[in-house]
Amino acid sequence: MGKVFIVCPECHQQLSFPEQPGWQNKLVECPKCRFKAKASVYRLGSQARGAHGADDSATQLVTSSQPVFDAGRLRVKNTNEVHDLRAGSNVIGRCATTGTADIKIGSDMYMSRRHVRIDVVKSARGYEHHLVEINSKNIVKLNGKPIKRGDVLILKFGDMLTLGMTDVVLESGDNESTRLV
Ligand SMILES: [Zn+2]
Repeated sequence: MGKVFIVCPECHQQLSFPEQPGWQNKLVECPKCRFKAKASVYRLGSQARGAHGADDSATQLVTSSQPVFDAGRLRVKNTNEVHDLRAGSNVIGRCATTGTADIKIGSDMYMSRRHVRIDVVKSARGYEHHLVEINSKNIVKLNGKPIKRGDVLILKFGDMLTLGMTDVVLESGDNESTRLV
């Protein structure tokens, strides 16, 4: 059985655990800082392979009834394509060979290669999703209303973004999660 190597987004501890089907939807608790979230929220740490400090033994996949950190995901309305968000910065833009967006969507010519950013930020209540205007030459709408230059807006699950001609919905990543270890 292979191992999955991940890095805690909070304390940057390198962790690993035995690979098992559907691990992305399981909860991981960082043994160092007790940060707890779906495994897909953690950064994949392929560079952690064989590195010092990878802590196998103490890493737990946990079951929890507590509210968990849910980085959420984006669903493209007309294709049902789903992209998981990650803790930290997520630049969203058009699919292009020269594109540098973290999340690349479709081939909408009205979408910039770097169109808008969603920062997934830790707060006392869990993650907040901050929509950040990044000087795209194309318009961004939140629930049908254009956002303004320099805006930072807090999103909630169910909010719809329009990037060029493409509608994208922010939804909870927890809907189909497996809570059992
Ligand atoms: Zn940690």
